[in-house]
Formats: sequence, C-alpha cells, structure tokens
Amino acid sequence: MSSYSERARAILPGGVNSPVRAWNGVGGEPVPIAEAHGSRIVDADGREMIDLVASWGPAILGHAKPEVVAAVQAAAAKGLSFGATTEAEVELAEIIRDRYAPAERVRLVSTGTEATMTAIRLARAATGRTRIVKFAGCYHGHSDALLVAAGSGLATAGVPDSAGVTPGAAQDTLVLPYGDEAALTDAFAEHGAEIAGVIVEAAPANMGVIQPPAGFNRLISTLCRNEGAVMILDEVLTGFRAGPAGCWGIERDHDLAAGLDPWTPDLVTFGKVIGGGLPVAALGGRRDLMEQLAPLGPVYQAGTLSGNPVAVAAGLATMRLLDDDVHAHVARIASSLADGVSGALTERGITHAVGRAGTLFSVFLGLDEAPVTFDEVSRQDTAAFARLFHALRREGVALPPSAYEAWFVSAAHSVNDVRHIVSTVAHWADAEVAARV
Ligand SMILES: *Cc1c(COP(=O)(O)O)cnc(C)c1O
Repeated sequence: MSSYSERARAILPGGVNSPVRAWNGVGGEPVPIAEAHGSRIVDADGREMIDLVASWGPAILGHAKPEVVAAVQAAAAKGLSFGATTEAEVELAEIIRDRYAPAERVRLVSTGTEATMTAIRLARAATGRTRIVKFAGCYHGHSDALLVAAGSGLATAGVPDSAGVTPGAAQDTLVLPYGDEAALTDAFAEHGAEIAGVIVEAAPANMGVIQPPAGFNRLISTLCRNEGAVMILDEVLTGFRAGPAGCWGIERDHDLAAGLDPWTPDLVTFGKVIGGGLPVAALGGRRDLMEQLAPLGPVYQAGTLSGNPVAVAAGLATMRLLDDDVHAHVARIASSLADGVSGALTERGITHAVGRAGTLFSVFLGLDEAPVTFDEVSRQDTAAFARLFHALRREGVALPPSAYEAWFVSAAHSVNDVRHIVSTVAHWADAEVAARV
C-alpha cells in the first residue's frame, strides 16, 4: 500500500470523498492525481496518462484550459463570494436558455444532486401528488427519494438502495425497467392520479452509455402531458456534452428532420459541463413551473454558494468556448475511439458491445448486443473490464475505474491519443486471447 492511500484512509472513509474513486469496481490502489492539462493527467508519482475520465464529464475542453483558468483567476481576484446576484450568473443562465429552449427559466445550484432534488420538489408541489417514477440504472444524484433502483422487471414500490433512506422516502418512488414502454404505460394506468413526475436521464450514462430506444423519451413526455404529471429530463451528464443541446437536442433535430413536432421536457437538470470543473449545476424548465420557486412561489430552494462568482466564471468561459467546432471535434474523437476500440476487439474475437448516445460511449465486454436495461448491463464481464483497466493504466491510459461509466473524451484529445489507446486495447486483447489457450 502506498503511503498516500494509508494516509487518506486514516482520515477519509475509504480514502475518498466520492465512492467510485476508491476503485472498488476494478481493485487495486488508486494513486492521487497531482495535476492535469489538456488530455493528460499526472498522478502524485509523476506518471502521465491519457485521461478518459474528464472529471466524470466536466472537462469537455480538456483540463486546465488556459482561457478558463484565466477567467477563474480574474473572478477570484474580484472576490470569492458575495451572496448576491452577479451579471455573470445572468449571462450563464441566458446561454443555457439560448442553447436549450425548454429551459425558459433557470436556477443555478451547486450540484446535480441539488438540481434533481429541487426538480422533484417542484413536480410534487405543482401537481399536489407524491409519487415519482424513475428507471432502474438511471442515476440522479444521492437525495433520498432517488437512491432507489429496485431490480425486478415490474413496477415495484421502491426499496432503498442505501442504508439510512427511510422506506417512507423510497416508497413514493416507482422504479421501472429502462426503455420498457409497456411497464411505463401500465404504471400510469394503475397509479396515474398519484404520479407527480417521471425523472429520466436523457440518455442513461451511469450504467455505461445506453442509447434511448426510439420514441421512449417522447412516450414519457406524452404520458406526462396527458396525465398531468411533470417530465424531468436529467441532462446533468449529457447536457452540452452528448451534443450542443444535449441528448434532447439530438432527438429534436432528428424529429424535425423527420417532419415530427419535437417533444419538450417540463423540467431539465444540468451540471458537470456547465461548471467547467467547478461546482455549478442548474434546474431549468417551463416558466409557470419555475416561477413556483421561492421567492416568486411557495417552493423553497436556496444556497449560500449558489451562482458562486468563481464557479460561474469557469462555467461561463467553458460555455463560451464550447462552439460547434469544439462539439464536432469531440464527436470525431469519440467516434474514432469507439470504432477503433471496437474494431480491435472484433478482430481478436473479444465479445463486446458499444453503447452510444451522441458523443458519449462506453464499451460493454462480454455482451454481444448493446444493452438497454440495467439487467442486461449487469450481464457484462466486469472481471474482464478490470483486467482491461489495469492493462491500459500500465500503458499510460486512465479509463474510468468502473465498467458502468462512459469513456469521456475532450476537445484536447488528439488523433494520436486515439491511436495510442486503440493499440493498447489491441495488445490487451492479444494477451486475453493468448491466455485462453
Ligand atoms: C453526476 C450526475 C448527477 C449528480 O450530480 P452531482 O453534481 O454529482 O451531485 C445527477 N444526474 C446525473 C445524470 C449525473 O450524471
């Protein structure tokens, strides 16, 4: 055990401040990170690696983008926090609305967890109903009502996924299998009058990346509208990353091209990219719903550091730089990496599937078809993923330390980075095949 981990474990539970960082999904000892620039991270032992974690999404421009760092420094020099509104906050909210039309009004918060928690409170307040529908395998942060992912295929009253969540908090959450239109229609037929809202990841990306089945998000929107419930689209991970207007924008463009009226979520949550690496998240949505938030309406929500000027400076600089060219580069890198890795695995007869949603993707080892439900995802070969993770690490590539995460690229990743990663995956696959015989 390294001295870092010993010291970390002696003070931080599990040596971390967020569980996935402990590498429980792959085994081994995480080494602390010392710094990161562009597509590279450097650990405390001085090892430089191509990073495919991107701080779990925010680093879409690459790490420590000079313009973003300069904006943060300039903001910090003017004061770290005022507890009052600033022009920069207004501008960040306007950019979100201008790029993402369903966000007619925006409230900035500090974490995605706060955004989804507030969205649920708002849905319940607006409808006077209690139940929330969520889908197994979708992650919406760690508030009590959402820490539920009961496994069985049918609508089950929620069972807490974490100790310390009361059955009361969990039983108002109905958990359905992702992508299952019949289960969703049945849930509304049976409980429609009690359903305040449906929360769904715009494309699930916290159980690996799942492409939403065609028409699934639209069905949620239609059922919510017909039954008087609120559709909460969680784009904390996908927003301004999967595409210029998140996964909703991808479906909107598709619908418009097909001559369909686009569907529209009632509330949307953002995080990750909109903070550019500092704590900014947001809730947006229909004006009449959003204006139920205090001080205009009866739904209380507040935050000492909400819209913090230094954090907003990072978000604003990131969003300003995030133009169509950047999105196009990220899309090209993501495609060539996903295709390259998949090609290398196919050539060597390694069973796998690639899940894709816009520029997000992940590789499922041991599955021969891209999964849709959490049960399908659970059949992947996590032991093989752990071997891949460590093999890549040795060759200077930092994959996310879990088979249930996206492989994140950024505007700083180059064609050479892709080449190195693909050839490293190919070497690993050769070794896997050799070990079989
Ligand atoms: C990361 C994430 C959250 C939670 O955001 P935090 O800032 O970690 O609280 C919520 N929903 C989705 C889809 C996420 O990926």
